Amino acid sequence: FGILLKDLKTQEDTFVVCIKLLNELSKPYETQQGKISLSFNIGLSFFPDDAKTAKDLINKAQIALADAKTKGENQVGFFRKQIEQESSRKLKLKAELELALLNNEFIIYYQPYVDKNKKISGAESLLRWKKGANIISPGEFLPILEETSLIVDVENNLFEQVLKDIKEFNIVRYIPISINLSLQSLMLKHIKDLIITNLKYHNVDETLLKIEILERAFLNDFNYIKRLIDEFRQNGIYFALDDFGTGYSSLSYLTRLNVEFLKIDISFIKDLQNDKTKNIVKSIIYLAKSLNIKTIAEGVEELLQFDTLKSMDCDYFQGYLFYKPMPKDKFFELLKNGG
Ligand code: C2E
Ligand code: CA
Ligand code: CA
Repeated sequence: FGILLKDLKTQEDTFVVCIKLLNELSKPYETQQGKISLSFNIGLSFFPDDAKTAKDLINKAQIALADAKTKGENQVGFFRKQIEQESSRKLKLKAELELALLNNEFIIYYQPYVDKNKKISGAESLLRWKKGANIISPGEFLPILEETSLIVDVENNLFEQVLKDIKEFNIVRYIPISINLSLQSLMLKHIKDLIITNLKYHNVDETLLKIEILERAFLNDFNYIKRLIDEFRQNGIYFALDDFGTGYSSLSYLTRLNVEFLKIDISFIKDLQNDKTKNIVKSIIYLAKSLNIKTIAEGVEELLQFDTLKSMDCDYFQGYLFYKPMPKDKFFELLKNGG
């Protein structure tokens, strides 16, 4: 049999379909002579990665099928081994992440940002996965959370936690906290109401919450995001443009988006000794100033970078030179001791 699967979101989804197929097909068949069990094997190839013509695609699927048969009955084989390994790794991770959500293993680290006098002006909440004794950074699992709708639930939980934490921080110091919101969360119909209702419920001042969004979030639907930013702003909640300068940034966006902060991407800061880069950063800061937008430099690790950025009149600085992301209790202690 040949089966054509169309419009699947991810390559590992084919794997899920195959397992379901095999489960169904391997159920016994009732015949007049009694029950008959059959075994099946499946070979997979992908268009256009593995082959570009129908004939070639079938050939590659047949090679994959031969490989599946060497593994035994009811097995799935991929034309490319890499995909096979990647698919099963992702599926395993997906299952682990679903459990992690149920078990409240997602926690928040806080990373302060400072002003020109190194005084803490605010902090960013950053997702971590507490897996046993290990603390895992989002780079390893965020793409999977985003592929599934899990990210929405994770961010919702984090937000609740952030609100509780803000109240505690507030006892020792009035300090704004930023959350990172994925495109999926931003696209929720009721996202604005959800956030505003929660702020009210927890009795948290709306000026204490900042929302960071990535540039690629508004490439999809610029007008929707623009409207969202404006509506939030009317309610006293301000946005920051994250990772500014990476990829598709267009300066015309900047003039049209009503954001409070612009976060200059770490890649520029790393390359600040390069004169060209230095001039770009200078221009970004200059432009932001003229639009009344405050700038935060990300990933400041060296004193020289700090001095250079200060001389360009950058407003805020975030990076290992000052503070690394830290657990809530540590951040609370820091605030208590004057930060
Ligand atoms: P981001 O929003 O750009 O966050 C800054 C990242 O840079 C953080 O990585 C932080 O630990 C790291 N960093 C800070 N200072 C320095 C430095 O001086 N040097 C270097 N090399 N790195 C520095 P982290 O915590 O691993 O987070 C990675 C990304 O994951 C974040 O990048 C953000 O895009 C995403 N993320 C984190 N939490 C959430 C969340 O709750 N929701 C969503 N959608 N994304 C999140
Ligand atoms: Ca961020
Ligand atoms: Ca960033």
